[in-house]
Parts: sequence; C-alpha cells; structure tokens
Amino acid sequence: MEQKTDLIIIGGGVIGSSIAYHLLNEGYQGDITIFEKDRLYEFASTPRSAGGIRQLFTTDINIQISRYSLKKYKTFPEDMTVDGERAEIDFQQRGYLFLAQKETMKELENQANLQRKYGVPSEILEADELKRIIPEVNSNDLTGGLYCGEDGYLDPYSVMQGYVKKAKELGAHYIYDEIYSIHEEAGRVTGVVTKDGMLYKAPKVINSAGPWAPIISKNSGYPIPVIPLKRQIIQFDAAEPLEKPLPLTVDPSGVYFRHEGDSFISGYSEKVKPGIDFTWKRSFFEETLWPILANRIPNFERAKIISGWAGMYSHNTKDQNAIIGEHPELSGYYMACGFSGHGMQQAPAVGQGLAELIMKGRYETIDLSPLRFERFAMNELVIEGAVV
Ligand SMILES: Cc1cc2nc3c(=O)[nH]c(=O)nc-3n(C[C@H](O)[C@H](O)[C@H](O)COP(=O)(O)OP(=O)(O)OC[C@H]3O[C@@H](n4cnc5c(N)ncnc54)[C@H](O)[C@@H]3O)c2cc1C
Repeated sequence: MEQKTDLIIIGGGVIGSSIAYHLLNEGYQGDITIFEKDRLYEFASTPRSAGGIRQLFTTDINIQISRYSLKKYKTFPEDMTVDGERAEIDFQQRGYLFLAQKETMKELENQANLQRKYGVPSEILEADELKRIIPEVNSNDLTGGLYCGEDGYLDPYSVMQGYVKKAKELGAHYIYDEIYSIHEEAGRVTGVVTKDGMLYKAPKVINSAGPWAPIISKNSGYPIPVIPLKRQIIQFDAAEPLEKPLPLTVDPSGVYFRHEGDSFISGYSEKVKPGIDFTWKRSFFEETLWPILANRIPNFERAKIISGWAGMYSHNTKDQNAIIGEHPELSGYYMACGFSGHGMQQAPAVGQGLAELIMKGRYETIDLSPLRFERFAMNELVIEGAVV
C-alpha cells in the first residue's frame, strides 16, 4: 500500500510539534504526519535546554519573536488543555539579567532602547541596584546590568509535551521512525525516505530535526550551515539558600545560572569540536563554572553537584540564528532549524509563522522573512549580539 500524507514534519521536538499544533489550530485541512526517531526524546535538544525565556535580544526580528512567544507561554496551560487537563509548564517570570562591566554598558543601553521600541520593559541597572534583584551578588567588578522582569524560565519538556498532546488531539499523526532524506522530482518535494528505504509521499516536508537537520538536508542534496555543538549544564546545591529566587542571570564571563526548584543549574557555551556528543564531566563544573559562580555569589562557594547533562545546540555557523522558510531551490521543502541557543523561546512564533506561510503563502503575525535561507547568499545576515 502506498504511504501518503499531505504534509510531513521531520522531528517532533518543540519546534516540529509547535508547527503541527499551529497548522491544525489555524484550520489546516490536510493530513499531518510527524516523523520522530526518538520516542522518549532522550537525546532531543528540547528537554536538555535551560528553558530561558527572554526578550533581551539585539535584533528586531528576535525581539519580536520573543515578545510574541512570551505572551503565548503565559496562556500556554489553558491553550494546550487536553481532556480538561491543563498543560502546566512551570513558567517562572523571575526575570532575565545580563550582568555587565564598564566596557559593555553602552552597548546594553543601545540594546535596551531597541527592545523598548517593541514594548519590552527593559531596565538598565546600576551596580548598587543589582542587589535589589540578587541581594547576595558580588558587584565589585560590575558597572550594572540589563534586566527584564517579565522574562524568566520554564520547563522545556512540558512545553514540548503540551504541543505534542494538543497536536495529536487536533489530528496530527506521529510515526516513530527515522528519516534518511527528502525525496524530490523535477525540483519539487515528493516525500521522504525512511532509513529503511521506504518512500512516504507528501508534497510538503518541513525539516525541524534539530541538531540532525543538517544531516537530512545534506543527504537530500541541500546542505545547510548548521552544526551540532555540545553544551553542558550542571545542577548543584548551595550550602546556604539565597534570599530571593534568581532571574536567569548571565555573568559577564558568559556563565549563566538560575534556580531549579530549591537547587540551581548553570551552563556555559565552551569552545568544543562540532559533533553529536552527550558526555558531561564534573570537571566542567569544578574548573569552568565554579570559579565564576563562587566569585559572583558567595553562597555558591560551598556548592555540591547534584547531576549534569549535555545537549546539542543546532549552531548556525553563519549568524547563529534560525533558518525559517522554503528552500529557494526545492519547492515544498521548508526549514525550521539552526536555532542555536534560543529555540525554546522561539517555538510559539515560529509555529505560528510557518502555519501562515504554508496555508496563506505569507507571514501575517510576524514577518519571519529576515530568517530565510536566501539571506546567506545575499549577505543579509541577522547578526545577534546577545547569544548565550
Ligand atoms: C544545554 C542547552 C541549553 C539551552 N538553553 C536554552 C534556553 O535557555 N532558551 C532557549 O530558548 N533555548 C535553549 N536551548 C536551545 C533549545 O533547546 C533548542 O533550540 C530547541 O529545543 C530546538 O528544538 P527542536 O525541536 O528544533 O530540536 P529537538 O528538540 O532536538 O527536536 C528535534 C527532533 O528531531 C528528531 N529527529 C532528528 N533526526 C531525525 C530523523 N532523521 N528522523 C526523525 N526524527 C528525527 C529528534 O529525535 C528530536 O526529537 C538550549 C539548548 C541546549 C542544548
């Protein structure tokens, strides 16, 4: 029997499942089939994310995307209710804070001005004001910071499952199989080929396979500038609790930290060789994170590791931003990949945008065209100055 559907999504992580949900929520009438190779999402980027949600970006497009997504995460539990069960995502609007030294303050002020243009309540804080947010912070070497109290963090796994369950309720089919490549005839997508060589037909295919997206695209003859980069996160306890819940805080060194329940998580984008690698090391905490953490928050001096993990950034080597839209050389091939370290907070806007593009041929809510694939050839890169 010929396997046929109207639209295939490769990868059912937060991005693929958000797209499926948004299409169906917008009234898409065709059949949607999502191929997911990892039924338990053991290695997907989404559940391994730090879940940081911020509007503190430096490009118009990323600020607009985040602002829209933040609004959607606020109503997510109700919007994704299935069978009377709310989709709780533990969204803690405890703020997002970039700590800064003298040389970056001017730049942060420029960023805040741009963010405010879009309605983001960004605040520039002086060094002594930082203690209002984190009473224990050592601000001796700091000049201030950029803060947004509306931002915060959430549970990424629950967001993804919220989209999966709602998409299924609305009629999306998940097939737990691995895709090898996209199939085409005469410059048009005709389906996908599974790793066992089976052809599954569809006129439209969306590649949202996260860190594996470039492999599928390359197997199909359409390489994209995305590489997987390992990112470690360590969870730890501090000897003395902090007075207030932490915002997601980024030290000037790039080390970030936040509360995770009563404990803490911390990470840093260290220099690594590209490749899929899920090993994590205690020495990463002891040598890289702890010296920064202990200096910044004295309560972290006596820290005890609880656990750790590694996940993959889908790192866009050109400008560290997502690639969204139809491939200019293959009609019916859509991409939603290369999110680097900020895909969680872009999932609602990207889902909505791709649903509009596919159903109406244009973006209506937010113009996502600055993130089109063609920007690389046209040298219209979207350079984001606040990458974590
Ligand atoms: C350590 C870490 C911290 C992060 N922190 C943040 C943060 O604070 N804020 C933020 O916004 N973002 C953060 N991110 C980034 C964010 O997690 C990702 O951008 C986002 O989860 C990407 O979602 P995705 O659906 O594209 O990818 P994934 O979640 O990886 O989903 C892709 C899915 O595709 C499936 N798949 C792959 N290949 C195939 C195939 N051939 N056939 C079928 N299925 C396939 C995979 O199994 C996977 O489930 C972080 C990432 C990491 C690793």
